[in-house]
Amino acid sequence: MDPMADILVIGSLNADLVVRAPRFPAPGETISGEDLAIIPGGKGANQAVAAARQGASVAMVGRVGNDSFGPALIQNLQKNNVDSSHVKADPAATGTAIIVVDSSGQNSIVLSPGANGKVVPADVEAVSFRDADMLLLQLEIPLETVIHAARVARQNGLRVILNPAPARPLPDSLLADVDILVPNESELQLLSGQPVTDIASAESAAWTLLAKGVQTVIVTMGANGALLVTGEKVSHVPSFKVDVVDTTAAGDAFIGGLATALLRGKSFEEGVRYGNASGALAATKFGAQPSLPTQDQVEELLRR
Ligand code: ADP
Repeated sequence: MDPMADILVIGSLNADLVVRAPRFPAPGETISGEDLAIIPGGKGANQAVAAARQGASVAMVGRVGNDSFGPALIQNLQKNNVDSSHVKADPAATGTAIIVVDSSGQNSIVLSPGANGKVVPADVEAVSFRDADMLLLQLEIPLETVIHAARVARQNGLRVILNPAPARPLPDSLLADVDILVPNESELQLLSGQPVTDIASAESAAWTLLAKGVQTVIVTMGANGALLVTGEKVSHVPSFKVDVVDTTAAGDAFIGGLATALLRGKSFEEGVRYGNASGALAATKFGAQPSLPTQDQVEELLRR
């Protein structure tokens, strides 16, 4: 079946198993925490839901496991109007993040990729790219699948947005197929091999990636907003001031807002402003997908 969506996301779906505890346990120690929260997450699914809540039509490609988390994650996509017809059930376990949050709000995470590690290039072949405008990619599925998806998208005239997270070195051939690369500061540092500590060093690191064939680099900088570097211009777009509760999925919200604004014909600067507003709102709420804002919420913040 062909997904009739403007935005395709090929990436991860995770069940986030979150327990708040007074502190992190020491090796060999057992401590008591609060009740378990099972929250839909995974960078791929987060970005799909983020864009759908902004009103984009979105289809997700990925794999969940043959366990009780799998159907729950698929249902959650459907509840958020994301086409899940290309999310397959794999014999592996569903991707899971075991997360402990301490009393200061810091988290400590073990990621178990499970079925996300089984997303293969053939899964990309099963999807029609013809009707889509944009492809969103992250690095929680095998790199060879990301490389293949970017190539096929390029050949079909889609805009390719890559969020290089979690950070890892990438081949130049992949970077040359990327229209918009959206790293945070530590991801940019790893990809460029240059220290990134402020706006000036972020710009200089971004240029090394433009030199490798990326069209546009947008560096997300937390409370400092984001830096847009295209071949023609550089512009720093400040963030929105909010009361921060939990920044989980702020980067994913940013990408959903950016992608949807660009799809509607907004400029890069306007797209980054939408991204900043989405990211800021996500930081005001606990958890991954429950924190992703709607189009109305983003537009209200932009009017303020
Ligand atoms: P990641 O979570 O991927 O490391 P960032 O921390 O850069 O990414 O956050 C992504 C975006 O979310 C930022 O560019 C910004 O727009 C928004 N954001 C994150 N943290 C804050 C904050 N403390 N205040 C306002 N906006 C924030």
